[in-house]
Amino acid sequence: ASERVTNFSAGPSALPPSVLEEATAGLLNFAGSGIGIAEISHRSKEFLAFLEETEKEIREQLDVPSTHKILFTQGGGTGQFSAVVMNMLARHALLYPNLGVAGSERTLDYVLTGSWSAAAVKEANRLTANLPGVRVNVAADARAYSKDGTSYEGIPPHEAYTFTNNPALIYYCENETVNGVQFSKPTTTSDDQPETDQTAFPFHLLPKGQLLPLVADFSSSFMSRPIPRLADHAIIYAGAQKNIGPAGLTILIVRQDCIVDVDAAAKLGALPVPAVLSYKYIADGKSVPNTPPVFSVYVAGLVLKRMRSLGGPEKFEEVNERKKKSVYEAVGEGEKRGVFRGKVDEKRGGSWMNVVFEVVGDGAEGRFLKGAEERGMKGLKGHRSVGGIRASLYNAVTEEETGKLVQYMREFIESET
Ligand code: PMP
Repeated sequence: ASERVTNFSAGPSALPPSVLEEATAGLLNFAGSGIGIAEISHRSKEFLAFLEETEKEIREQLDVPSTHKILFTQGGGTGQFSAVVMNMLARHALLYPNLGVAGSERTLDYVLTGSWSAAAVKEANRLTANLPGVRVNVAADARAYSKDGTSYEGIPPHEAYTFTNNPALIYYCENETVNGVQFSKPTTTSDDQPETDQTAFPFHLLPKGQLLPLVADFSSSFMSRPIPRLADHAIIYAGAQKNIGPAGLTILIVRQDCIVDVDAAAKLGALPVPAVLSYKYIADGKSVPNTPPVFSVYVAGLVLKRMRSLGGPEKFEEVNERKKKSVYEAVGEGEKRGVFRGKVDEKRGGSWMNVVFEVVGDGAEGRFLKGAEERGMKGLKGHRSVGGIRASLYNAVTEEETGKLVQYMREFIESET
């Protein structure tokens, strides 16, 4: 393993070497069963016990209350772009069967902060295009607050938001992996006090007097720090392939009132829901109604156990905060010297997980990437849609490795000026 490089990839991304070694042993013999993890039945007592422990790790480390179930499924974030629409429309149809007819509307509120929330809006529009009375509402559009009016450069201020009265869902993406834009942690825990941090999600502006249909995509920040106000969410979901495991596993935290009889709702005009996307199907089958991604669950479980032994999300939060600060600082130094240009200001919602910046000048980006690679650092090229550099600082990227990047950024500034 000595030829391993430092991997700053946005996902799939680095995993802790100690876990990969454990998983290697598990591929040959899982939990003393004499059968490897990729070969064992998902209904074996060994695997079902492991699944239960993994669920418990998430519940305890994130303080998930008993009002919410933790479910494991497949299909990634993209699967959830569809599933949240279908399940939440079904819930709404059962609660309010008369909406969407006789001129009334059933709405879906989306907060747009980057390309992943935009992809979710696109899927909501596609699925509901022919449903009478259903409207997808963009509740806030961060692009209106960018320099050129078309880019995602930060979290919009609270004045930007207009939620509808009784939406079927309210959707946001907590961390925009491509654009490097992330909501700050909420500073207030109750709606009586307005949120003062303009880059925190405006819980105080949400419709009152109902169980909030609040849905959040945590794909690229899940387990990187505690989730305050978790209990105020209807659904939190995340693909595993950033902070906690291999691709293939999707984790859902679902409030129980959002696990509904989708077939009864379909009779009322809601969309029919494929079984694998139905939260009720997954919950009734205790996350194994069909074959789950056994190996991905295994690695994620090992990562979560290791996380707890190292101090859990609170500890990772401290480390992740120091990591991102040091990289933004180096970007700032490069900015002053005309070498780097930050795409997102740390104070306007600069992501802790994905720091996105440009290298200024002819061929400079190529020189930066080449130098990084020569020093054993890979995965720094920005997403093809925004270009530039993206340094992903997920949990498995250590402070030492981050320090190596920061030191290289400083050397690069010197060599370019
Ligand atoms: N949401 C976010 C925030 C993501 O980062 C990604 C993937 N990078 C997705 C959704 C889509 O996830 P998947 O590729 O698992 O469908």
